[in-house]
Amino acid sequence: MSSCAVIIVAAGTGQRFGDKLPKQYHLLNDKMILQYSLAAFAAHPLVSSVTCVINPDYRDLYDECAKDLNLREPVCGGKSRQESVLAGLTSIEDLNPDIVLIHDGARPFVSYELIERIITSLDDNKAVIPALPVSETLKRSHYGFISETVSRENLYSAQTPQGFDFKAIFHAHQQTNDQEFTDDAVIAEKAGIKVAIIEGDYKNIKITSKDDLLKANNFFAKTPEIKTGFGFDVHSFGTGKNLYLCGVEIPHSKGLLGHSDADVALHAITDALLGAIGAGDIGLHFPPSDNRWRGASSDIFLKKAIALINGLGGKINNIDVTIICERPKITPYRHLMTVRLSELTNVPQKNINIKGTTTEKLGFTGREEGIAAQAVATISII
Ligand code: MG
Repeated sequence: MSSCAVIIVAAGTGQRFGDKLPKQYHLLNDKMILQYSLAAFAAHPLVSSVTCVINPDYRDLYDECAKDLNLREPVCGGKSRQESVLAGLTSIEDLNPDIVLIHDGARPFVSYELIERIITSLDDNKAVIPALPVSETLKRSHYGFISETVSRENLYSAQTPQGFDFKAIFHAHQQTNDQEFTDDAVIAEKAGIKVAIIEGDYKNIKITSKDDLLKANNFFAKTPEIKTGFGFDVHSFGTGKNLYLCGVEIPHSKGLLGHSDADVALHAITDALLGAIGAGDIGLHFPPSDNRWRGASSDIFLKKAIALINGLGGKINNIDVTIICERPKITPYRHLMTVRLSELTNVPQKNINIKGTTTEKLGFTGREEGIAAQAVATISII
């Protein structure tokens, strides 16, 4: 296997970023931008050594970026990117690697796979760069007006890491005669080395402005964790009680018996919500032995479950409930129940579904001895 050295160029002062701190030391998510590429190369099994070229004024920040990573002693950069790369190449001359990858420290999203593809392509080429086809129409301007539309056919934008035969690129860099170039591939081209292009990576962006940093931070936007909970409850009918379902009083000859107002639907929904967040059930939070809850309105239970969800940064996506009884008929009250449940939970009405069903006169609900309710709820936790 050939030995592969990596030079990461991070000596720039990042003037375009608009403040004193060089861009590579700005925070991206919760780490400095430079840390990402240092870590990616240091951990790659095909990489033999990693050397970063830095501005010594920021040595402390570099040391923080390099903490716990297996890297060579950093090298001081020069006045230009090109001088910095040459300083890096000179510093690894004694290692005499077969190949070298040169990478911009401001490209934090270099992937394991891209590093591997560049290294593999160097088996057949003396120089390889990742690049993406230009997708936008290109205009040349002259004093603010278009002077020419440039065909984008065969046009690519170059990325890093750019990979080279070490001796070839080191020699080419030494022969530039103080001419300034913007990447290393052009130095190889000028030296007559054929540079192959392989497909770049759209995520491998270079962070040069605050807008880029904003875009890069969005890559870390978390996908919510979706949780589902199920609830089931039964209450038996008794006389002399009012019937409540989903927080709505329903005219009926019988009410439901229970410690609280016996709103069987709200109990099933509350248990579904508690279940989704792994918080037990109503009985755990409101023990029937506690007289405080005697005759209590069941929205207290629901509000407790919602408070627990909010505490976790969660949001209720939807609630689906089935009320099982012969009578009363649920359909005439569906809208009222949906409105009430939406008020109680802050879940939009379109995300609340209430259904009524019978058990075809079978069992305790069929004999109208009581009402059962089932509920499913999903919750997103960011
Ligand atoms: Mg109950």
